[in-house]
Order: sequence, then C-alpha cells, then structure tokens
Amino acid sequence: MALLELRGVTKDYELGKTVVRALRGLDLEVRKGEIVAIMGPSGSGKSTLMHILGALDTPTGGEATIDGQDLQRLKERQLVTLRGKRVGFVFQTFNLIQTLSAQRNVELPMIFQGTPKRARHRRARDLLEKVGLGDRVRHKPNELSGGERQRVAIARALANDPEIILADEPTGNLDTETGEPILALLRELSRRDGKTVILVTHDPDAAAIADRIVRLRDGCVSAEGRAVSEEVGTSSLGDDPERRREGGAAGAASPGDGPEGGAAENKEGSDG
Ligand code: ADP
Ligand code: MG
Repeated sequence: MALLELRGVTKDYELGKTVVRALRGLDLEVRKGEIVAIMGPSGSGKSTLMHILGALDTPTGGEATIDGQDLQRLKERQLVTLRGKRVGFVFQTFNLIQTLSAQRNVELPMIFQGTPKRARHRRARDLLEKVGLGDRVRHKPNELSGGERQRVAIARALANDPEIILADEPTGNLDTETGEPILALLRELSRRDGKTVILVTHDPDAAAIADRIVRLRDGCVSAEGRAVSEEVGTSSLGDDPERRREGGAAGAASPGDGPEGGAAENKEGSDG
C-alpha cells in the first residue's frame, strides 16, 4: 500500500459568494522512500495539495489516507499528533522565528512533543551539524544567509524524525548555487534515511532529484512520469557520475504502476 494515497480529492475555498475549486478530483499515490516533484503553473493547487498531504487541511471531497489512515476520520487531536510527529514542513519563506537562535528554532517542534530538555538540545545540535551548520547554532535567522536559513528550516523539519518531508518551493527564494545544497540534502534524506519527500518546484533542475514528476493543472494531475528524461535537461545530471547513475537507476527501477505511470514524454511546456 502506498504511504500517501489521494483518491478523487477535491478542495473548495469559499470566499464570500465565490467558491474557488483549488483541487478538482486529484488522484495521487506516493510510496515510502520516494521523492516526488510536484510541478505546475501558479494557482494549479500545488500548495493546497501539500496542505492536505501534511494534514494541515482536510479535503472537501474524496479520500486522503496516510499509511491507510483516513484523514477525514481522524479527530483534531490525532491530526495534531500526525502533523507533529510524522510530517516535516519546509516552506519557501523558511518561516523561522526571528528572535530565536538556530538551535532554539530546531528545538521548537520537540518542545511541542514534550522531548526532555537535554535530549532536545543534543538533537538540535546534531541536526544542525547534519545540515552543515554546526558552527551556527547560536545565530539568529537574520544573522544567516538565505541558504543557511533554509538549512535551519530543514533541521527543524527533521526534529521529530518524521517519515514524510513536504517541501513547498524550498529553493524558490534562493539562487541556483545556494539552492543546490538544499536539494542535495533532500535527496540524501530520501536515499540514505528512507524519508518520503514531496518537493514542489518550478525549476526543472530541482525536479531532477526526484524519482517521479507529477504535473498539476487546474487542480488535477495533468501528467506524471519519471524524472529522468530530456525534459529535465542534462545539465543538472551533468558531470556528477554518481548523481547520473542514481537518477538513471531510480528512473529505471520505477515500476510505473500508477494509473498515469510512464507519461514522462507528455511534455507540456514550461511551468509558471
Ligand atoms: P499553487 O501553490 O499551485 O500556486 P494554491 O494551492 O496555492 O496553488 O492555490 C490554488 C487555488 O486556490 C488558487 O486559485 C488560489 O487562489 C486558491 N486558494 C489557495 N488558498 C486559498 C485560501 N486559503 N482561500 C481561498 N482561495 C485559496
Ligand atoms: Mg504554492
């Protein structure tokens, strides 16, 4: 069974008398340990989809399950636990607390889960070390570069050791050079730590780290396919043989058993 499963999911936002139909019958399956890139024009429902996958919001219709648990049947308390322990969020704008040090920002989710002080101090430092910021633990967000802030945000997302990482345009505010270590980290989280990673991006080079690309249009999946193809260009796979091999292997190993599997050729031009 897929770790995340959406069946005919709809999401309506009511704004006064108008209803925005953000998702219009979306089907998606994500297996454990996969990296899936979500692409699509602005307004196509990518962030709405992420909110539903992370149990931040519930669908208007259809069915959404995490590990077989139907999100609509969970009580608010269960949803809070699910969000806090099983899902880590990374946002385009980092969403760090400006008055707290990097270490305290990373500790916050552990405070909410009641992790004892010493354990959370140690874990926050270990996580900052893991993202390459072992020498920045006392820095506040405004004393860090954009790329460093996003790495703090990734460390924070990992605080409670979630199995699912949802990254909504994590490199959207960063230039290519600063974005690369962020993407490398996300890829490592999947490949080495077995995390399931969903990455929303406009950047084909960023999407190239994924096993699979899912394209949205008007609140539906418009195309789905392997990430490794001419559409993502060869520049990102470039001269790093390991990356090329991994990307190729991931593509080749993908059974493409989803209903829309194997539609990589289904090009539809650029996003946004
Ligand atoms: P994307 O992330 O692909 O740009 P979103 O999921 O943010 O798209 O938005 C999909 C559609 O839903 C857009 O038309 C947007 O204006 C609308 N929308 C998103 N969030 C809300 C909200 N909280 N209230 C009303 N409309 C919303
Ligand atoms: Mg968005």
